[in-house]
Amino acid sequence: MLGITGARGATITDESGKEYIDAISSWYTCVYGHCNPYILEAVSSQMQVLDQVVFSGFTHEPAVRLSEALIEILPQNQGKLFFSDNGSTATEIEIKMALQYHFNRGERRNVLLAFEEGFHGDTFGAMSVSGLSVYNGPFEDLFLEVKRIPVPTKANLPAIREQLNELLHTHAIAGFIYEPLVQGAAGMKIHDAAGLNALLAILKAQGVVTIADEVMTGFGKTGSYFASDYLDEKPDIICLSKALTAGLMPMAVTTCTDKIFEAFYSDQIEKGFFHGHTYTANPLACSAALAGITLLRSDEMQANIQRIIRAHEEFDNRLSQHPMVKNTRQIGVIYAFDIAISMDRYGDLRDKLFGQFMERGIFLRPLGNTIYLLPPYVISDTQLEAVYSAVLEILDSYQTKAHISKEVSG
Ligand SMILES: *Cc1c(COP(=O)(O)O)cnc(C)c1O
Repeated sequence: MLGITGARGATITDESGKEYIDAISSWYTCVYGHCNPYILEAVSSQMQVLDQVVFSGFTHEPAVRLSEALIEILPQNQGKLFFSDNGSTATEIEIKMALQYHFNRGERRNVLLAFEEGFHGDTFGAMSVSGLSVYNGPFEDLFLEVKRIPVPTKANLPAIREQLNELLHTHAIAGFIYEPLVQGAAGMKIHDAAGLNALLAILKAQGVVTIADEVMTGFGKTGSYFASDYLDEKPDIICLSKALTAGLMPMAVTTCTDKIFEAFYSDQIEKGFFHGHTYTANPLACSAALAGITLLRSDEMQANIQRIIRAHEEFDNRLSQHPMVKNTRQIGVIYAFDIAISMDRYGDLRDKLFGQFMERGIFLRPLGNTIYLLPPYVISDTQLEAVYSAVLEILDSYQTKAHISKEVSG
């Protein structure tokens, strides 16, 4: 464990005073930079006025203003919002919404559909819909019933269509949960937008509630505000967290269309949606989120996003021919590639890589043999170049066979 004592902009500082470039925005959260003065100012003024209050029977200005700001940037079909605390909880809520939506309409649909390697969080519903993971073994017997399909490619689409038609015939599918276009924890795997559109169209025609988990992809990372912006088929429900609050504090929002909302809006109390956390819509978190959206929409931040996209594209020209590199991929400010290394040489490659980057003052978290970059939008050109150079330098060090066996087995 390394003690971290400070963070500012794109850097974090450890207890010995050593600085690291945060090349993954501390798990996709602080995209406007750590301790961004504009966010800090917004939260500290809010703090003087209203710190926390029950969000049941009460409402407050930061929540109302945030809701309005979100509705403005979300896909146009989104009309209503539900607040909670973190990405996993946003997933629980979306699952409950999808199940109860059918229940309220007098239909029992108890099966969920998800992508094979998805990640949606660590609570029970979220674990259930995530792809099977070695960490979830002890709980698998207790999971919700979930059917899984592979992510679409041009080649496998006909096969998935067939699989879907079969599943829709044999199971009462309530909802389909997906990370749109890029699966984060699976290793920043990018899939085909046209294929996803086709699947969403089939599912919508069968009344399946479509749920985009934009916890990772939201707020500019794909180059647009949301990954769903690239798809013609808009989801019925969207989950947001991580960069929602600019990395300042935990909060999540699950949004839905008016059509979903209508199924809950009733004088019969049991038709309502019952899910409330103590810190729901905390005013400080709302004010951080609101300030974050103002920054996201600014010309300056949009220019930063475009600057990183172009820099990644140029880096890709340098990197994609490297003999140690395969499957380079990019969407927006997300850039990833796999290290071409045979499994028998693999050993503790991930930990070795992590250490090598940290030595060079770069904080990255390789996923298996995948290295991905998701820098804060405010990262400077010099910092970005330092990250790229470290990647190339480390890859070069793996090129000599002798070195590989020494590093990986030793
Ligand atoms: C991180 C993540 C979650 C879980 O969010 P937590 O706040 O860590 O509970 C869910 N879905 C996706 C796509 C994520 O990246």
